[in-house]
Amino acid sequence: MVKGRVAVVTAASRGIGRGVAEVLAREGARLVIASRDGSSISKAAQEIKAKYGAEVVPVAADLTNRGDVRRIVEAAANNFGGVDILVYNTGPPKPGAFLELSDEDWDYAVRLLLLSAVWITKDSLPYMIKNKWGRLIYITSMTLKRPLPNLTLSNVVRLSLAGLVKTLAVQLAPYNILVNAVLQGYVETERVRGLAEDQARREGRSVEEVLRAMAREIPLGRMARPEEIGELVAFLASDKASYITGSLIGIDGGFTQCI
Ligand code: NAD
Repeated sequence: MVKGRVAVVTAASRGIGRGVAEVLAREGARLVIASRDGSSISKAAQEIKAKYGAEVVPVAADLTNRGDVRRIVEAAANNFGGVDILVYNTGPPKPGAFLELSDEDWDYAVRLLLLSAVWITKDSLPYMIKNKWGRLIYITSMTLKRPLPNLTLSNVVRLSLAGLVKTLAVQLAPYNILVNAVLQGYVETERVRGLAEDQARREGRSVEEVLRAMAREIPLGRMARPEEIGELVAFLASDKASYITGSLIGIDGGFTQCI
């Protein structure tokens, strides 16, 4: 049960983060949702409130900016007294082969995919430690297990979150704070459509053709819906998942095939 718990979900105006926020709202959590664009996160909060009657506070925050990240947890503290569940999700890094990426691309990706996770975890922990209860759930990618061509930044920088999860799970166990990562495969979102457009351009194929080829590679024959990732996160956030920590949990329709 996550009923009454305070959950922070980042990068939540659309796509996977939005799917997670919707499931947590349906299950009765009180929410702070954040994303870069002020008007889209406010609209998302209104829509989620209207659909589930949940308490939802929107925060416009760019995860690559330390001050912005600080304001996300401050909003949870000011509105709900703290944070119980942190669902860390980010915007996608730039696609591209190693030779196409600049030093600036690498700097940005480290801020987006690693430092923002460190910052928001630091800000959230005092509340969880005080309550001797907490859930840190990092939405990462199947690229932790199966690097994908053309996703160099994701393949390299996201691996650091596996180290973060394994390290924090041990250090935070005495406080009853459970730490896990979700390694999703392809999910139907604007991000995937963007990747398909990029690939279609490079290969001179149509976007629909590329999307169909991607789905054919997945044993279940389709991409996930964002709410399916949300169902896993809601389980990990609940008391039912009381013995799961330090795990990297795949949800990919059978795509990764790594033990
Ligand atoms: P999306 O593009 O549909 O949504 C991204 C969200 O992130 C939006 O709410 C956007 O406003 C927000 N955002 C972007 N940059 C931000 C920033 N700097 N600060 C704060 N918010 C920011 O993407 P998605 O498909 O939902 O993907 C979410 C994450 O999961 C991404 O990191 C993506 O790379 C990863 N991922 C996606 C898939 C997939 O198949 N969709 C698979 C594996 C990993």
